[in-house]
Amino acid sequence: METILVVGGAGYIGSHMVKLLLDEGYAVVVLDDLSTGHRRLVTGGVFVQGNLGDAELLDCVFSTHKIFAVMHFAAFSLVGESMQVPLKYYRNNVSETVALLEAMQRHGVERFIFSSTAAVYGEPEHVPITEAHPCRPTNPYGNTKLSIERMLADCGRANGLRAICLRYFNAAGADPSGSIGEAHDPESHLIPLVLKAALAGASVKIFGTDYATPDGTCLRDYVHVCDLARAHLLALEALGDGCGSDVFNLGNSVGHSVRQVIETACRVTGRDIVAVACDRRPGDPAALVADSDKIRATLGWKPKYESLDAMIDSAWRWHARQG
Ligand code: UDP
Repeated sequence: METILVVGGAGYIGSHMVKLLLDEGYAVVVLDDLSTGHRRLVTGGVFVQGNLGDAELLDCVFSTHKIFAVMHFAAFSLVGESMQVPLKYYRNNVSETVALLEAMQRHGVERFIFSSTAAVYGEPEHVPITEAHPCRPTNPYGNTKLSIERMLADCGRANGLRAICLRYFNAAGADPSGSIGEAHDPESHLIPLVLKAALAGASVKIFGTDYATPDGTCLRDYVHVCDLARAHLLALEALGDGCGSDVFNLGNSVGHSVRQVIETACRVTGRDIVAVACDRRPGDPAALVADSDKIRATLGWKPKYESLDAMIDSAWRWHARQG
């Protein structure tokens, strides 16, 4: 049984990864400082509370457990905040990752799976976006993720690290059990905000209704969190089979507008959700849609939850339980 170190395993995507790894029979060690994650989302494995930049703690983890591969989900990810306090992002997302990679090197661990983002592309020149699209992030969050991608490539050339970077588009949904899901504080993402509004009988803001899109609101490519986790598993198996470093987009290749998300949520929840048209949110591209052919062809990834209804339905099951 191989042991996987999941850094940031108490977060939204990390906790779904932990659950899938356990279901698949892997041993799991979670390292999370709980700065944004939640202990209750970690459904099993060994839990170590601490920061990924703590070299002593990392030495202890790598000496105690024979780690086969590291999956790295621990990052700050609020675009707006990254514009206000960029150094917080460079410290956590870049510097602490350097410490993690150094520890891996000290302990001879050479397989790495990294949570990257569509934010590395910046304002798209065209959609759907392939991996060959130029990377020109428009905010510090995207810059930090691209910096790590470049660092991983450098380490690959210098000392044999093999890293797969997965560029997520918009993660959505929750495990069908309803036992784990998205719990950000503060919440800034559209689907959880819409579902919270449904629960509270409150309204939701639409940031911009004058985009050059069919209904004037932004298009995003939503991908189910369990499908994201499954892609990591395929990446892990590929690294186990000896494949080299690579970069893949992860999305469903379909754009859904903000209004479509709200309409779908009304249908799925059976509740009226009042939408209020507001100004654009600075920095939002009109459309972000992935071309995910590469991961489908190379790793055989096939999303299970392609419809927005299925994504919102699973998210609703989680949110309704939170009350
Ligand atoms: N959005 C919105 N109202 C909200 C939150 C988000 O209209 O309260 C829009 C946002 O402008 C973007 C889309 O919903 O066009 C998805 O935003 P989210 O923050 O969920 O993800 P992002 O695409 O920014 O990573």
